[in-house]
Amino acid sequence: MKKSAYIILAVLLITVLTNAQPVKKYGHLKVDGTQLVSEKGEPVVLRGISYGWHNWWPRFYNKGTVKTLSNDWNCSVLRAAMGVGPDSGYTKEPEWSKSLVMNVVEAAIDEGIYVIIDWHSHHIFLDEAKEFFSEMAKTYGDHPNIIYEIFNEPVEDSWEDVKEYSVEVIKSIREHDPDNIILVGSPHWDQDVHIVADNPIVGYSNLMYTLHFYAATHKEYLFERGDYALEKGLPLFVSESAGMEATGNGPIDYENWTKWIDWMEKNQISWITWSIADKDETCSMLKKSADSNGNWKDEEIKTSGLRTRELIKKYNTCKDSK
Ligand code: MG
Repeated sequence: MKKSAYIILAVLLITVLTNAQPVKKYGHLKVDGTQLVSEKGEPVVLRGISYGWHNWWPRFYNKGTVKTLSNDWNCSVLRAAMGVGPDSGYTKEPEWSKSLVMNVVEAAIDEGIYVIIDWHSHHIFLDEAKEFFSEMAKTYGDHPNIIYEIFNEPVEDSWEDVKEYSVEVIKSIREHDPDNIILVGSPHWDQDVHIVADNPIVGYSNLMYTLHFYAATHKEYLFERGDYALEKGLPLFVSESAGMEATGNGPIDYENWTKWIDWMEKNQISWITWSIADKDETCSMLKKSADSNGNWKDEEIKTSGLRTRELIKKYNTCKDSK
């Protein structure tokens, strides 16, 4: 083979590997205005899937599922949803909880995809959150893969309370990690982004705010709040969403789900669908027969999972070269 042919082959190989690994392609993420951008400043939209609460579906928190979701489902981001309060959540089983989250985080680093460390709570646990995120930032803060989500869905706390909590947790992350993206929760299940937009956190960079939707429940008013927040300059990240009702159950509203996907794509907002679990409900993507270690056959995946995989494959072109 001629020297030029070797060079062309090498360039092709590098291109394929780089495209297949979003972190190699985009590097350290930043926020520019309302937009998530790459290390070089190009707009980035991440699309992926959230694991279910680790305390109820620990069986899926392993390297095998990360590989399947990265390679077969084309996810560029995954979300490890570490339950905090209920049952064997972080407050009761901190070491076990951390070890499951770390399984997913380390497998995602190996796969070259982004991963969200999600404090999956509906209530404030300030001291526990500070200690946990301080340790995560110390351990993983140099990896471009890591995104911190410091409060999944506040329910009863006002924005003033969530803001005060968030600033404290942000400080404990920034002591060890000056730059990785931090996702801040919005009150009322991440729906009150309009209130946050009027009074965002100042003095810290690379913050984004979460908006969550369930398409059969959340209609016009939530689009309006999202549009208002963007107009006011609030960077949004949809770290949880799905096609059915907010309970996670009931029929899928395909029309409104498509409307949400179109809205996010138009505004270049990253999105994540809920969830990898096998509960008997619409939003849990897997059947009880699904292997704990991934490599799922279509007949082991429920409708919401098949549709989510189809949407991610359609839009996540950064993974196309695999
Ligand atoms: Mg960092």
